[in-house]
Amino acid sequence: MESVQELDPLLRLDREQMSPPARAGSRNKSGSGVPPLDSLCAAIKPLARQLVALQKRANALGLFANDRELLECPQCGLAEDVAHDGLLITCRESAIAQDTGLRFAKETDQTFRCPSCGTLVTEPLAAELEKARKQLEKRK
Ligand SMILES: [Zn+2]
Repeated sequence: MESVQELDPLLRLDREQMSPPARAGSRNKSGSGVPPLDSLCAAIKPLARQLVALQKRANALGLFANDRELLECPQCGLAEDVAHDGLLITCRESAIAQDTGLRFAKETDQTFRCPSCGTLVTEPLAAELEKARKQLEKRK
């Protein structure tokens, strides 16, 4: 069974980060009706594990699990798409929805190798985050 630590950072529940300042000593005494963070974590963890397991099964079946963004090679234009039956396919702009049978190969957490031309493709969201990070660093 996967540990919660392997989850996508957005799903990861880090108690230190999520704890509001009012945590110290006064758990839920305000009468706000919000359940304590510990019980929320305990309730979400099994669901998060099930989600990861389902995504792994979907990937193994060739389905797109929505666990990342669709890829497009900036060099040759080969692009991923999701067919009506949920299968992850790749196609060319000249023949949209026509599966080439090629699949991007994962290189690292955020980079994939184009099966057509060999270009290293960064996942769009990761590329956007990196761009934003660099812009922020320039301002300093
Ligand atoms: Zn390519």
